[in-house]
Amino acid sequence: MKDELLGLRPDDFSRRVRAFMERRGEPAWRVDQLRDCVFNGKARCFEEATTLSTPLRADLAQHFSLTPLEPDHVARSADGTVKHLWGLADGEQIESVLIPTSGRLTLCLSSQAGCALGCLFCATGHFGFRRQLRPAEIVAQYREASRFAQAEWGRPVSHVVYMGMGEPLANLSAVHTSLDVLHQGFGLGSRRITLSTVGLVPGIRELARRPEQFGLAVSLHSPDHELRARLMPVEKRYPLPALFEALREYARVRGRRITFEYTLIDGVNDHPELARQLADLVRGLSCFVNLIPLNPIPFVDWQPSPPHRVAAFAGTLRKHGVETAVRTPRGRDIAAACGQLRLSAG
Ligand code: SF4
Repeated sequence: MKDELLGLRPDDFSRRVRAFMERRGEPAWRVDQLRDCVFNGKARCFEEATTLSTPLRADLAQHFSLTPLEPDHVARSADGTVKHLWGLADGEQIESVLIPTSGRLTLCLSSQAGCALGCLFCATGHFGFRRQLRPAEIVAQYREASRFAQAEWGRPVSHVVYMGMGEPLANLSAVHTSLDVLHQGFGLGSRRITLSTVGLVPGIRELARRPEQFGLAVSLHSPDHELRARLMPVEKRYPLPALFEALREYARVRGRRITFEYTLIDGVNDHPELARQLADLVRGLSCFVNLIPLNPIPFVDWQPSPPHRVAAFAGTLRKHGVETAVRTPRGRDIAAACGQLRLSAG
């Protein structure tokens, strides 16, 4: 397999490309020229690296890949959300979602094709794990989405969240590399990158050892062990006390507030008593809770909590001093929740 330039940390990139250029007798500044083409997202194939000569581009294409990514489907929501279903070279499909708001343009990207963790409310969880994504496949979603955003809205992606298909902390080696490429290569600030996890404790501890201030979001969905284990099998492996020990350590070491995602499912996890338990659970932790009414999926007979139950849940949390926001699910008309587009595309 050819070296994928998007999957090389900037120092590896320089080393390998420099060796290649030296073999060809090219001047040293060609390395910087190619790096500019790759990390400003202008070239998605070597033919587009037009600052380089035609023979050099042809030779580069023999030795390296820029991991082309083509959409199998693009869905646009009335609320502006755009979802891409990307076809990978081996036939697997992954999704990314662009969410424009007035101040931000957020990209949710995938870290795995499918997912092994089987959360009950998640379409991706229902079709199981296919394979890990390589670093370049993660970064290529960013490159393609950024090009799309520039063409569509004339502005770049401002924030990235690892919240598409898959659990990023279950593909940590590739995710580490992709973080370096996005941060050091594409110049995306660490505070603009968030990893969203269901709570893989070893991964959280490993992430805490990185020097950057990446954001951490945790899908919680219940403060009660039994209920959470029913909704999210990962709770059996890493129960809430172990998870919160790791989160307190992360918040202490990294100095960043933790975000909790809590999907509200009517009559399942939206009881006011659970809001009180949740407030107890997060007490003393610098955190923020996002409440999101469920985006229904076809094979589970659950409905989003109605507005009055959402308001009551949020009110209880706030009364107990927990910073809370109610989010509107985005792109409901295009099946924008993780895994749904792949599901509906078949
Ligand atoms: S919510 Fe995330 S971790 Fe759970 S099954 Fe879906 S993709 Fe996997």
